[in-house]
Amino acid sequence: MSEVTEQDVLEALKHVVDEEKGQDVVGLGMISSVVVKNGNVGFAIEVDAEAGEAKEPLRKACEEAIESLPGVLSVTVVLTAHREKPQQAPPTRPSTGKENVSGIRSIVAVASGKGGVGKSTTAVNIALSMAAAGRQVGVLDADIYGPSIPRLLGIKGRPDATGDRRLKPMENHGVRCMSMGFLVAEDTPMIWRGPMVQSALEQMLRDVDWGELDVLVVDMPPGTGDAQLTMAQKVPLTGAVIVSTPQDIALSDARKGLNMFRQVDVPVFGIVENMSYYNCPNCGHRAEIFGHGGARATAHRLGTKFLGEIPLHIGIRETSDEGKPIVVSVPRGEHAAAYLRISDRIAAKIDELTDDESHAPPRIVID
Ligand code: ADP
Repeated sequence: MSEVTEQDVLEALKHVVDEEKGQDVVGLGMISSVVVKNGNVGFAIEVDAEAGEAKEPLRKACEEAIESLPGVLSVTVVLTAHREKPQQAPPTRPSTGKENVSGIRSIVAVASGKGGVGKSTTAVNIALSMAAAGRQVGVLDADIYGPSIPRLLGIKGRPDATGDRRLKPMENHGVRCMSMGFLVAEDTPMIWRGPMVQSALEQMLRDVDWGELDVLVVDMPPGTGDAQLTMAQKVPLTGAVIVSTPQDIALSDARKGLNMFRQVDVPVFGIVENMSYYNCPNCGHRAEIFGHGGARATAHRLGTKFLGEIPLHIGIRETSDEGKPIVVSVPRGEHAAAYLRISDRIAAKIDELTDDESHAPPRIVID
């Protein structure tokens, strides 16, 4: 069978018409970021931000047009917007809500009020700690603004498709991983808005053959806007963890994150303080550069748990950059121990919630 090419994809899409505009999607210049690799096809459809979910049927039509091409093993189509969406309430959708994903026992979101606080580094090290404790773990990189999990886990290449047109997660250091970074070219500037993010995330969650997982760790996009709220609403999250640095400003952002999850009834397991303090490698002096302890105080004030602190340490950055995070590269070190303590606390919370549910009668949820 001949390999499907980008040209084949574009030819097929010329037959898909945007009813509203009366022209085909290629002619309208709506298709971008086409990636074709070994029969796996991914691309984005650019729509007006305000069009939102109204374009879901168009997305489906594009997906079906490509699925029927010979040689295509999987198709991932996402809606994306380049224009700002006017301020409005988060979308509501006549969906069945948060359906559980079969085989996945629990899903934990790792979130932060803003970027650069070490959310992805923390998410990966927590996932690896849970795997070290004998759990089956997956990481879903939902940080569509800057998907960094493949780099942190030292994973290159693209996922293969399964026989039933789902994607196989990639794997390294004993954890499975799926990332937007596998599907969309890294240099594609894209502004994702709430309703559009949803299709990407749901595909990564449901169209991926995760197998049996005890925990799926979701690395959320930083911030507390519409995109994050939609994700928190649509994914059946068992709970969320907020990563913060000790600075006050980051903490006020963390507070927003906490409120966001509470708004959508997702339990917040607690706050992790990252870059909490600095142990001078020369003299051993402990310097609290950012005024250590803020997260503990905030957690207390907001009625959530303080899950632990991670120091600012060059080894944490270097090992991450090398694709061998500190929990796997120095598993007996003090930093790995700090991540293990935090992940144990999270695991205990998960067990508490999932055990409760397995013993309780089935709940009837009315949206
Ligand atoms: P975010 O996901 O919040 O944007 P990242 O996890 O990408 O943040 O971290 C931002 C940068 O800070 C990266 O270079 C990372 O290696 C570094 N970093 C994160 N946590 C620590 C830490 N505890 N000590 C040293 N460097 C860290």
